[in-house]
Amino acid sequence: ATLAELDDVLVDCRACPRLVAWREQVAREKRAAFRDEEYWGRPVPGFGPADASLLIVGLAPAAHGGNRTGRMFTGDRSGDVLYAALYDAGLASQPTATHIGDGLELFGTRITSPVHCAPPANRPTVVERDTCRHWLEQELDLLSPTLRAVVVLGGFGWQALLPVLSAAGWTIPVPRPKFGHGAHALLSPTEAREHPLHLFGCYHVSQQNTFTGRLTQEMVTDVLRDAARAASL
Ligand code: SF4
Repeated sequence: ATLAELDDVLVDCRACPRLVAWREQVAREKRAAFRDEEYWGRPVPGFGPADASLLIVGLAPAAHGGNRTGRMFTGDRSGDVLYAALYDAGLASQPTATHIGDGLELFGTRITSPVHCAPPANRPTVVERDTCRHWLEQELDLLSPTLRAVVVLGGFGWQALLPVLSAAGWTIPVPRPKFGHGAHALLSPTEAREHPLHLFGCYHVSQQNTFTGRLTQEMVTDVLRDAARAASL
């Protein structure tokens, strides 16, 4: 399968009853507020080229962001910060992301999340995270020939991703790298993989972090620049 084929199947996934109910309820109730657009209300696939060398891993789509527009971090305040930082780091064609068809392109970079459906209060359960894991495993497997670096936004993504990277053929250092803003680890390849993988931590671009000043756009840009360099972008 190709990444595009994987995304085509993913958008029909209904494996998590609570998330299916929530994403559809939000879409039904909010459709009136966004009358001119179709409200997506389905799993949100990864965004970016299939031969990306840098992968950004978030948490889950926002109810009125990705869940509304159908594209990762598109149409919400978290995305405003992330895409501005990607643009400043030379990884995006424009600093804003409003809707599919807005002309935005990512360069050598793909954005995904360990949970593909919007959860209530932005909090997926452990069962939901584990249920969604096979999508991330397949995406990583398809990206692995070109993948050189991963930026993880927040501790949830970090916890979700480490076992997936280990199963996918990279060795997690001992002691296990801890999540933090600016954290970096180099994962060596097992015989299943040809290249090492650089892992970077970055605080999540949530409003909770950016409104309180815990995270600034410059801090995100700095991590993205380091990761882009590690990925030879
Ligand atoms: Fe499917 Fe993942 Fe959405 Fe659960 S969160 S319904 S596994 S796409």
